[in-house]
Amino acid sequence: MEDSPASNFLQNIVSEDLASGRVAEVVTRFPPEPNGYLHIGHAKSISVNFGLAEANGGRCHLRFDDTNPEKESQEYIDAIQADIRWLGYTWDGEVRYASAYFQQLYDWAVYLVEQGNAYICDLSPEEAREYRGTLTESGRNSPHRDRSVEENLDLLARMKAGEFDEGARVLRAKIDMSAPNVNLRDPILYRIRKVSHHQTGTDWVMYPTYDFAHGQEDAIEGITHSICTLEFEDHRPLYDWFLEHLPVTGRPRQYEFGRLNPSYTITSKRKLKQLVDDGVVGGWDDPRMPTVAGMRRRGYTPAAIRKFCDMIGTTRGDGVVDVAMLEFAIREDLNDNAVRGMCVLNPLKVVLTDYPQDKLEELSVAAHPNRDDLGSRVLPFTRELFIDADDFRAEANKKYKRLVLGKRVRLRNAYVIEADEVIVDDEGNITAVHAHTIPGTLGENPADGIKPKGVIQWVSASHGKRAEVRLYDRLFNHEAPDKGDNAFMDYINPDSLNVVHAAWIEPSLAAAVAEQGFQFEREGYFVADRYDHSPDKPVFNRTIGLRDTWNNG
Ligand code: ATP
Ligand code: MG
Repeated sequence: MEDSPASNFLQNIVSEDLASGRVAEVVTRFPPEPNGYLHIGHAKSISVNFGLAEANGGRCHLRFDDTNPEKESQEYIDAIQADIRWLGYTWDGEVRYASAYFQQLYDWAVYLVEQGNAYICDLSPEEAREYRGTLTESGRNSPHRDRSVEENLDLLARMKAGEFDEGARVLRAKIDMSAPNVNLRDPILYRIRKVSHHQTGTDWVMYPTYDFAHGQEDAIEGITHSICTLEFEDHRPLYDWFLEHLPVTGRPRQYEFGRLNPSYTITSKRKLKQLVDDGVVGGWDDPRMPTVAGMRRRGYTPAAIRKFCDMIGTTRGDGVVDVAMLEFAIREDLNDNAVRGMCVLNPLKVVLTDYPQDKLEELSVAAHPNRDDLGSRVLPFTRELFIDADDFRAEANKKYKRLVLGKRVRLRNAYVIEADEVIVDDEGNITAVHAHTIPGTLGENPADGIKPKGVIQWVSASHGKRAEVRLYDRLFNHEAPDKGDNAFMDYINPDSLNVVHAAWIEPSLAAAVAEQGFQFEREGYFVADRYDHSPDKPVFNRTIGLRDTWNNG
């Protein structure tokens, strides 16, 4: 891929490690928990991990950190893989799973017990919390901390055999209950959970904690640079403790960077799941969701998402990134690459009284104003057309540069017309406008020197096609919907979706293939819906408007 190597502090570390020979090859990994769909924050992590490997001739693993079976599922595993591929990245070798290492992790747990470095603790969760102390107060030793190795080995084996109930006992590391870093206060290594696992079925009735699994998985896989987000910084001493006290060969080093938090956006799988479960959106891939699948369905492109991830850089700061930067990257990509088309969202009929009933002109126009490689399209021009109702007024002041009675306007890619008369129904609603063409104005100004005031889009009423157009906008109307005590459900934008059931599109657009993106002239960027679009029943989603209406409004 042509992306420049991410020039950031992580790249500097990798460059030094390669130059000094500390590592011969860079091996990174992206380690999602399959408990939801990937979101824009994960896209950042993916671009960092895969990007570093790509830029340095290394490899990046995809490993599912599946230590929490109740919340995980095959649906998520499949979706995550599809999303990574769609973003344009390829993981090294087969998909990996933390669960494939469960036996090794268990053997290491036994090893820690044998070395006197782990013990079975019978404190209830409430008691354990009490013994743990606080940030300012040291913890206290569990009354079970000094069990003999033999007793611990026996209890651990019986725990594995399913003899004890959930919550009855845990395995803990024996480190230091007075450590200032609470993560080192005899952390839990294993919990009893009698649930079946999507990969290992009913093989296990106890599962390792994320903390016990994560670093060792990296060691097993020979990960050289274990990159994660800042909230794991305080866990690093624990991961290093495990590596020092276990007979592992690999020595991954962990580096942290700041999470991506775009404004107007939520990046927590738990909260995104709530939006899905509560029916606020249509699913994880609803075009309003900041999920990779949602952005895809919305018409965002992999190139634009990757560009954005590059643009914002990778730092150790945890600040908020203006979501307008993401939208800018999308607009820029689509402006450069999307074929143009005309769509009328709010149709008003125009009858060109001078234009013969049976006449048809097939105007050949460029698919893109400065991309000859994208070819041309055919626009049928006929006596009856639709224009947008907002583009006509019987009377208007000089600022209104569209069609006005007695005045002229250019139909985009076609003739200049002049409006003569409005047709109204019994209730006084305008049902049609009668107008006439100004001859000789295809690609030319009127010979009489009276120039049109503006340019509007149009679609032939007899040759255009009806379409459903889904107008999406930001899902939240608050800059930081889940900051602090904010109840994000209170900030759902009531106008995040408006469906236009009978828009009119130029006929070439009906032939769009699913997921093809367009600029509908004067309206914005749109995409043929991934699932619902067909030539017989065209469905388009608005990706984004032509301009940012949030910041300047
Ligand atoms: P969530 O809070 O949404 O559940 P998570 O961190 O629990 O996110 P994981 O599946 O564990 O989700 O994440 C996989 C990787 O993606 C981790 O290395 C994590 O640090 C990274 N990641 C998650 N969210 C972000 C984010 N907002 N910005 C950058 N990286 C992220
Ligand atoms: Mg996590």
